[in-house]
Amino acid sequence: MDIPRIFSISESAHRIHNPFAPEKLATLGTALRLKPDTLVLDLGSGSGEMLCTWARDHAVRGTGIDKSPLFTRQARERAEALGVSDRVAFIHGDAAGHVADEKVDVAACIGATWIGGGVPGTVALLSKSLRRGGIILIGEPYWLQMPPTEEVAKGCDAGARSDFCLLPELLATFRTLGYDVVEMVLANKDDWDRYEAAKWLTMRLWLDENPEDELAQDVRARLASEPARYATYTREYLGWGVFALMAR
Ligand code: SAH
Repeated sequence: MDIPRIFSISESAHRIHNPFAPEKLATLGTALRLKPDTLVLDLGSGSGEMLCTWARDHAVRGTGIDKSPLFTRQARERAEALGVSDRVAFIHGDAAGHVADEKVDVAACIGATWIGGGVPGTVALLSKSLRRGGIILIGEPYWLQMPPTEEVAKGCDAGARSDFCLLPELLATFRTLGYDVVEMVLANKDDWDRYEAAKWLTMRLWLDENPEDELAQDVRARLASEPARYATYTREYLGWGVFALMAR
C-alpha cells in the first residue's frame, strides 16, 4: 500500500507535508494548551512531525496512521531522534474508516480530508475516536479569493472551484456540522513557499541522482512548470489552515 510515487519523490525531504512552518505547528500546540499525556490520534500523519514535536514539547502521547511506507518510516526515525519513541507510534495503513480502540483527547486529520470523503465525513470519522469534550483538528485549504474561472481553480491543483470555499464559509461549515471553532492557525505565503518551493530543490537533486528513472521526464517537466504555476495560481488564490473544533 502506497501513495503515488511522485509524492514520495517531491516530498521526501519534507518534515511537514503542508504549508505550515515548524513554528506554526508549535504555535498550534501551544494554542491548544496541551497537557501532559494528552492522547492524540492523527489520520494521515505523514512524517510524524506534529506528534513527535508535541510529544517532545508537551509530553502528549499518540498514534499516527499513514498510507506512505516512506513517510511512516521517517516518522519513526523522527520519534527516535527526538527521544519520544515511547510516547508515539506510527502505523503504516489506510486511515479510511479507522476508529481508535481507546478514545482520544485530540483527533486530527491535517491536510488529508479525502480520507473521510471530505470535511464533513472526516469530522464524522474523527468524532468516533474522540472522548466527550475532546478536540478535533482539521487542516484544510480555503480560497483566499474566489478563482474567477474553473481554469484558475485547476491551476491551483484543485479539481474545481467548488472543491474549497472562502474562509468564512469554511468556518460556517464547521458550525453547521455542530461544532464550535475554538482555535485556528493559518498559513501565510512564507509557509506556502516552504511547502511548495522545497519540492523544487528535492526534485532537482532527485533528477541528478536518477536520470534514467521512469519518472524522470515527468519530474523534469514538473520542475520546469511548478515555480510559475505556483506563483500564478496557488500562491495568490489558496489559503490553508488548521481548525480546532469542539462539539456543541
Ligand atoms: N498530516 C501530515 C501529512 C499531510 S500530507 C502533515 O501535515 O505533515 C497527506 C498525507 O496523507 C500523506 O502523508 C499521505 O501519505 C497520507 N494519506 C493519503 N491517503 C491516505 C489514507 N487513505 N490513509 C492514510 N494516510 C493517507
